[in-house]
Amino acid sequence: MIEANLTSAPSINIKPIGIVNSPYKEKFAIPRQPGLVDAAKGTIALLNDVNTLDSVRGLEQFSHIWLLFVFHGTQAQGWKPLVKPPRLGGNKKLGVLATRSTFRPNPIGMSVVKLDSIETVEQNIILHISGMDLLDQTPIVDIKPYITYSDALPNACAGFAQHQPNSKLNITFSENSRQILTRLTQRLPELSLLIEQVLAQDPRPAYKQNKLDEKVYGMHLYNLNIQWRMLNVETIEVIQINELS
Ligand code: SAM
Repeated sequence: MIEANLTSAPSINIKPIGIVNSPYKEKFAIPRQPGLVDAAKGTIALLNDVNTLDSVRGLEQFSHIWLLFVFHGTQAQGWKPLVKPPRLGGNKKLGVLATRSTFRPNPIGMSVVKLDSIETVEQNIILHISGMDLLDQTPIVDIKPYITYSDALPNACAGFAQHQPNSKLNITFSENSRQILTRLTQRLPELSLLIEQVLAQDPRPAYKQNKLDEKVYGMHLYNLNIQWRMLNVETIEVIQINELS
């Protein structure tokens, strides 16, 4: 007999163990999975009693780590059993548990990212990571080493998400945005590559993929507002880059 007694299910108390610092300051234009934009570099600062060298002893042996985190930017919006995955054009419904939607019964996400290094800065343990798909200030609730023999299953069936999305747009920069990139090179050496990799994914809503539209879009990376538009169905032009205060 299957017993599912909700009233006696234990309550769970989970606290953040770290906070992400990411170049992605808003949801728009964040890649839909990790590993798609390797020029995205950020950090995790460990918190409270987890902020000790003992907690991360041995972690430096691993090139990649699993991050379990809370979708803090969308959790207030709750969840529904059916969602519309962008991969299916945003017009077909699937069960939330068959997708990686952020609107989940418990707003927990999981991403594999590259662990570039671990350092201590004024008694704070900082993990340097890259390739993340995380909003700035995302609370981390657990970190685990990525273990290839068990975690990588190249023959697994992945349903509607079997292959990496194939949108690969060309990116051009206006003369003005090129000059600003040159000025910012010293502070943000990976910025132009980051912009190119983010835009190559086509961050527009699913129903606009492979279509031309005339809108000027803005995205917020680091402290920059980056404006761009479609030149044709295969090319995006970065028009302007403005520093926000
Ligand atoms: N890799 C994770 C997973 O599978 O659980 C996340 C996948 S989810 C489709 C990725 C999207 O979540 C990003 O494109 C971004 O829009 C959104 N996102 C990332 N961090 C978030 C946060 N802290 N709060 C809300 N949304 C977030």
